[in-house]
Amino acid sequence: KGSDGLYTVSLIEGDGIGPEISQSVKDIFAAAKAPVKWEPVDVTPQLKDGKTSILPETVESIKRNKVALKGPLATPIGKGHVSLNLTLRRTFNLFANVRPCRSIAGYKTPYDNVDTVLIRENTEGEYSGIEHVVVDGVVQSIKLITREASERVLRFAFQYAQNVGRPKVRAVHKATIMKMSDGLFLGTAERVAKDFPDVEFDAELLDNTCLKIVTDPTPYNDKVLVMPNLYGDILSDMCAGLIGGLGLTPSGNIGDECSIFEAVHGSAPDIAGKSLANPTALLLSSIMMLRHMGLNEHAQRIETAIFDTLAEGKSLTGDLGGKAKTHEYAEAIIKRL
Ligand code: NAD
Repeated sequence: KGSDGLYTVSLIEGDGIGPEISQSVKDIFAAAKAPVKWEPVDVTPQLKDGKTSILPETVESIKRNKVALKGPLATPIGKGHVSLNLTLRRTFNLFANVRPCRSIAGYKTPYDNVDTVLIRENTEGEYSGIEHVVVDGVVQSIKLITREASERVLRFAFQYAQNVGRPKVRAVHKATIMKMSDGLFLGTAERVAKDFPDVEFDAELLDNTCLKIVTDPTPYNDKVLVMPNLYGDILSDMCAGLIGGLGLTPSGNIGDECSIFEAVHGSAPDIAGKSLANPTALLLSSIMMLRHMGLNEHAQRIETAIFDTLAEGKSLTGDLGGKAKTHEYAEAIIKRL
């Protein structure tokens, strides 16, 4: 927080629709007089010794401010370098990815009251990037699970469950098949649970979770689900589907020192530059960010304006069946503030 009373936040506008949806966040924050000053940073990838890296000024900005909001970054497929998203997570050791999915009044989906919270281990598992060719036609990919990373994300999940008043944690796993790797994750969960006697703990097999959550998501409304990386990636998109898709789902990448908040969706190149993008996911990410910073009143005010605008249904973007342009939707939110 500066002497002007404002908190400086690093802003990565991102590619594709990134600048358009970032503009909506900036306009709405300004109208709501949220005490945030944006510091734009450049994340153009630098290739150093064959490794993707980020400009030192950018790393310094995020380390100094401790909080960043990030638009989507396009990742070229199969170009040989690590994705920038992965590089950011590794650079800042963002070990937990928090993904809430809550039904939105005004947008009809098969279920009305979905309210899931999923926490994904963000640094290892199948996404460790350890792959090699054994012989032509045979490749090996290593799933790395460590007690240290498992314990870190599990402790975070229990603490989060306590902080948000949702004191039930469920570990999702496949320890029946991956006896050693998921076994270590599950065993660590059982041990960490003992340190949180006020939080109920249980565990469920991933396939069973998938089946049950699409059959009836409501039993998951009082729990925090925590799981290894790949399962969390897939299951959280499935939860996003339950509430109406990617335009609506926020996330926070949490580390010990810095945290980066971002929408779950990508850069949507098919609609970029046409004012068609729905900024809700990035807006809800910015609200998670405000709460993380302890700015709860501002978070609540902006969130209410968003939900009321969506519920009214007059100024919706195309993905939600409306005709409003990105900025028209943002203006409708501003009118309600
Ligand atoms: P995408 O999420 O960009 O798009 C999937 C579909 O959803 C598209 O039809 C798109 O128009 C639509 N969509 C996404 N966000 C929307 C929004 N806010 N409003 C309205 N419609 C929206 O996924 P993709 O096409 O597979 O990926 C495009 C690029 O984004 C790729 O380079 C990918 O690597 C990258 N990506 C980045 C992130 C990230 O930065 N965290 C996440 C996922 C994908």
